[in-house]
Amino acid sequence: MHAEIISIGDEIASGQLLDTNSQWLSQRLGELGIHVLYHATVGDEVAAGVAVFRQAIDRADVVVATGGLGPTADDLTREVLAQATGRGLVRDDEALAHIRRLFARRGWPMPEQNEVQAMLPGGSRLIPNPHGTAPGIAMDVPREGRSPCRLFVLPGVPAEMVEMWHETVAGALRQVGEGGRVIRHRLVKCFGAGESRIESMLPDLIRRGRIPRVGITASKTTIILRITAEGATEQECFAATEPTVATIRQCLGELVFGEGEIELEDVVVRLLGERRRTLAVAEWGTAGRVTHALRSAAGAEGRVLGGIAVADNQILERVLDVPPALVAKHSAASAEVAEAMAVGVRGRFGADYGLAVSRFPEFDEAQPKPVFFALATPEGVRAKSLPFASHPAILDIFCAKTALNLARLELSRAE
Ligand code: ATP
Repeated sequence: MHAEIISIGDEIASGQLLDTNSQWLSQRLGELGIHVLYHATVGDEVAAGVAVFRQAIDRADVVVATGGLGPTADDLTREVLAQATGRGLVRDDEALAHIRRLFARRGWPMPEQNEVQAMLPGGSRLIPNPHGTAPGIAMDVPREGRSPCRLFVLPGVPAEMVEMWHETVAGALRQVGEGGRVIRHRLVKCFGAGESRIESMLPDLIRRGRIPRVGITASKTTIILRITAEGATEQECFAATEPTVATIRQCLGELVFGEGEIELEDVVVRLLGERRRTLAVAEWGTAGRVTHALRSAAGAEGRVLGGIAVADNQILERVLDVPPALVAKHSAASAEVAEAMAVGVRGRFGADYGLAVSRFPEFDEAQPKPVFFALATPEGVRAKSLPFASHPAILDIFCAKTALNLARLELSRAE
């Protein structure tokens, strides 16, 4: 069984408004075991809307649409629906009484044009909208030789859409979902290798048709493996993903840093807590990003002592005790200076660990130059260099994560 979500409105089609309704509805449908295969967006134009609805009714068993149910001339969804299903618009007395009541409660006279909101396609059912004037519309649209398409149209206003979903649509769809089955996603997060390298390390998990399904995406240089399972309950889904997650962990080892909502900084702070260690940061290229990420993680208090964002050679000396001769000899974009920064910040803050990111080199596409990272530990100082060859727009985030990952790996190996 497949579902399609339709978003209606010029605001969305033109890119002025981000379509968060579709994202939210896809997640809710998935939870009911209804697989969403299509999203469609259409502007405020009757012919285009009719074509989009006809196509959806033909290719999806469940269609949920939002938007265009208001009282104004550009709210065309009722008309579109009537034409797409070949039904006339009929006034629904219950809807009209509800709209009148809402206006009376607010002490306003009802403008004549609001009456249009009580016009529903023949044979459809009203979906109550407790806090808005636009009633939703539910319809079973017959299809030759097949089960009817279950169609739901809700207002575009997210708060109204969400309330109506919970009060009416979810209940109606619960019986439609495949025997009350649910769909759940599990996310395994990795850092330290690219998407294709990670895929090549896994034994053909990402092939089409595999159960559970495994997908791979890169999000701000973190690689995410998404494992999707269907089952009668959430627990059953979880159990179905277990062997796949175990295989992934085994194949990728230290590249995996966690699951679900977790980020690298959360892991670093958790490890600092477990090891009862403290950390301070000195960063040039990342300009405070590493410190900010760490300080935003739960449990950072007392573990992440602080950070210094440097942007000047003299500050290296004055604040971090980096000898000027070292900077003059190697430049601020060097392993030697990164190491000295790490040692300096560790000493100044009295922390167990000092984490440093060097100044970024001049960007050179033809000949990528490295960024340097260092971690001063109670046992000594470790440096790492990484040539940056990706898009300059992600340099900051990539380097911040590389620094965090250096600390994560060190801490996870420490006693
Ligand atoms: P109403 O009568 O309450 O206006 P409506 O169905 O006509 O309901 P729209 O006019 O299409 O709703 O949208 C109203 C507002 O709801 C938009 O201006 C926008 O702020 C928000 N909205 C509409 N569609 C979406 C969407 N897909 N994602 C997020 N927000 C949306």
